[in-house]
Amino acid sequence: MGLPFRIVLYAADEPHAGAAAAAAFHRIRQLNDIFSDYDDESELSRLSRTSGQGRPVPVSEDLRKVLRHAQEMSERSEGAFDVTVGPLVNLWRRARRQKQLPDPTLLAEALKSVGYRHVRLNPGNHAVELLAPKMRLDLGAIAKGYAIDEALKVLRKQGVTRVLVSGGGDLAVADPPPGSKGWRIEIAPLDIPNPPPARFVLIANRALATSGDVFQHVEINGVRYSHIVDPRTGIGLTDHSLVTVIARDCTTADALATAVSVLGPKAGLKLIETTKGAATHITRKPNSQIETAESSRFVRYCEQD
Ligand code: ADP
Ligand code: MG
Repeated sequence: MGLPFRIVLYAADEPHAGAAAAAAFHRIRQLNDIFSDYDDESELSRLSRTSGQGRPVPVSEDLRKVLRHAQEMSERSEGAFDVTVGPLVNLWRRARRQKQLPDPTLLAEALKSVGYRHVRLNPGNHAVELLAPKMRLDLGAIAKGYAIDEALKVLRKQGVTRVLVSGGGDLAVADPPPGSKGWRIEIAPLDIPNPPPARFVLIANRALATSGDVFQHVEINGVRYSHIVDPRTGIGLTDHSLVTVIARDCTTADALATAVSVLGPKAGLKLIETTKGAATHITRKPNSQIETAESSRFVRYCEQD
């Protein structure tokens, strides 16, 4: 996944803490080997290479679970979230390097291999078939959340209950640190001059994920394009949004944050309000004006002054 993970935990003694953390990091490495799209030999890359061959391929339980979750999020977001965006993401990665917009012909070509409906999950024999040629799955918006959830599970099994696991700005927490009501997390601010004052949430047994173009974007002819693309148009988002989502697990929070980024505040809030335990805070700067939006449950998580 190309990013560092971090574990903060309370345990009775150091050997116990070390062993529990080591087991959790081991699980994260294992998942990284499956989900990596940089490694040509990862299970994910090998699956992508079978696209368009007209045959279902058996996959591991982890890959199956993530793809099932992704599929559900695609359906619920009407395609705004879509892990088949790989060919588009590739074109935009190149655009970032060359500081040049992707060639429209190549974009149109790539769009033919994009679409969550081209992924067929076969429930019976645990196989996956990629129906269109030249598909490329990209789990960048969900695998991190899944790895965090799995690491937390391992820690719980080891008897560690007061713990935080984070990776690349996304995190999940279990019970609060001793003597407190929750883990105090700062909501990422928009990278503009004179941003509004920092805000904090206090969470326990929840996950929090952030999606935005603060670190990954390209500016071409004065327009800033995000690394998040709208799968329906193939174009990187241009509305400077920063979306924070709180949910019951990090797989859901991670995927929701990306989905809400693509959907925008109106449809995004609707998606959040219909997800159990979920809340969001959205900041956008589509033009010179900053807009913020918040779901009804968000205030419950905010630190009271
Ligand atoms: P971050 O990389 O900042 O954690 P996200 O969780 O939103 O942000 O993931 C963004 C990554 O997800 C992109 O780098 C790309 O690999 C992939 N991606 C881009 N657009 C979409 C989309 N519409 N649906 C699903 N995945 C996407
Ligand atoms: Mg995400």
